[in-house]
Amino acid sequence: MKEKLLDLLACPLCGGDILLSYVGKYEEKEIVEAVLSCKKCEREYKVVRGVPRFADLDKIEHDKAETAENFGWQWTHFTQEDKKYADQFLGWLQPVKPEFFKDKFVLEGGCGKGRHTSLAAEWGAKEIVGVDLSAAVESAFQATKHLPNAHIVQADIFKLPLKKSFDYAFSVGVLHHTPDPKKAFLSLASKVKKGGAISAWIYGAENNEWITRYVNPIREGFTSKINQPTLYQLSKLPTLGVFLASKLLYKPANSVAKPLAKHLFYNDYLNHLGTFGWREQHNIVFDHLVAPTAFYISKEEFETWWKEINSNNVEIIWHNQNSWCGFGQI
Ligand SMILES: [Zn+2]
Repeated sequence: MKEKLLDLLACPLCGGDILLSYVGKYEEKEIVEAVLSCKKCEREYKVVRGVPRFADLDKIEHDKAETAENFGWQWTHFTQEDKKYADQFLGWLQPVKPEFFKDKFVLEGGCGKGRHTSLAAEWGAKEIVGVDLSAAVESAFQATKHLPNAHIVQADIFKLPLKKSFDYAFSVGVLHHTPDPKKAFLSLASKVKKGGAISAWIYGAENNEWITRYVNPIREGFTSKINQPTLYQLSKLPTLGVFLASKLLYKPANSVAKPLAKHLFYNDYLNHLGTFGWREQHNIVFDHLVAPTAFYISKEEFETWWKEINSNNVEIIWHNQNSWCGFGQI
């Protein structure tokens, strides 16, 4: 944890300022082990292995802990790098461009292992704070500690330990895995200053009926309950189906016979998947099978989120015909 992060932190319970009350260990400019305390209510929070901890995994609700744990395992095991990540990230953030980050205080709701936190830092954010509930913060911290403007915090998105001091908040692929996606969105938006902006990318209800009908029962009743190393192996089988279809059918069909390809089942998405290699596809399939909680949200419902925060100039963009990118000013 970098000391300047203190200016952005606030007690998740009373909103009080956070002070550094004891430092156990510094490593270069990082505070590695320490105790933080709330100026107002005097509650204490620890910094462990460089990450301030505002969430007690023993006390948070069971389903949230389960989601965090399942994704946490994945994020510490899928650590491959891919130059396509930046393009993929920008696809989810539409219409935001890298220049938008310049000199802004940025908040990421659900940073996983910090891939997007790094990109935001590299694109010139003044400070970027990545928040995650899961053990993936360990990887996120390692991946971002060399970046002077990047910070990782372990906390619950519903109880963010932050001041209302951000110019921009974003959350990609996370809100729909919380028990109440709209409430999580509102919580994130509550940390953005007037005149700031927010982006969210969520699974769409439209075109995903096949997932809600066929994949959800398997995920809820079986794959989110088995241990992850087993699921990791088992998920290679459906990945093989997706991999072969996307590489041998969708990609060639879209390059030689586009008008015909349009009629293929789920064409935009599977054609897009065809641009990824085996490991990234495996990652995506695993993602759909591992989460105990997943909501698929309609455009109509998504629009009500933005109305609730009185957002101006909202843009809601249909992405790969299976998900929604939202962007709006506050
Ligand atoms: Zn407090």
